[in-house]
Amino acid sequence: MQKDLESILFDEEQIQQRIQELGKQLAVEYNEKNPLFICVLKGAVLFMADLIKRVDVPLEIDFMATSSYGDASKSSGVVRILKDLDRPVEGRHVVIVEDIVDSGLTLRYLRETLLHRKAASVKIVSLFDKPEGRQVDIEPDWFGFRVPNAFIVGYGLDYAERYRNLPYVGILKAEIYQES
Ligand code: 5GP
Ligand code: MG
Ligand code: MG
Repeated sequence: MQKDLESILFDEEQIQQRIQELGKQLAVEYNEKNPLFICVLKGAVLFMADLIKRVDVPLEIDFMATSSYGDASKSSGVVRILKDLDRPVEGRHVVIVEDIVDSGLTLRYLRETLLHRKAASVKIVSLFDKPEGRQVDIEPDWFGFRVPNAFIVGYGLDYAERYRNLPYVGILKAEIYQES
């Protein structure tokens, strides 16, 4: 285990197993709809890559980057688009692929934005759900795992841009964010 972690919540095998199950559910839902899977950079990049391999129907992908956290471990409540989609979503069945739903502010903003652009439907798949963090009324349509109200890293999720490359997910030691 990486030395800055307090504990591991989900190992590589558990994550891959769960993603396989999610992929099957999404394939049923999106059969013959040519969905557009939108990865929310950068946290969801590992999840996106593993998930789409398990969704066995024709689909397209695009990427979007938002900012609400900076390098801190608390939400600022302000969502900005740092990188927008390459192509219009009008008439498309969209699946937003997120790493984690915490306050829900990012997803509420993204969902409203895509609906405003006239997507045919907008659904959300998130690998992690942290229900105790919620500030607005939004739920993922599918999620991999519920997590406690702690700051987690690994498998795409960072602290100050680090730990994204860990193949597992764990709770970061409090002393790591107290240092900086
Ligand atoms: P929101 O609070 O808007 O639901 O979450 C916004 C983003 O904050 C998430 O997509 C994720 O990138 C980041 N975030 C929320 N909770 C955590 C966490 O426990 N660990 C890490 N590394 N990022 C988080
Ligand atoms: Mg995210
Ligand atoms: Mg982050």
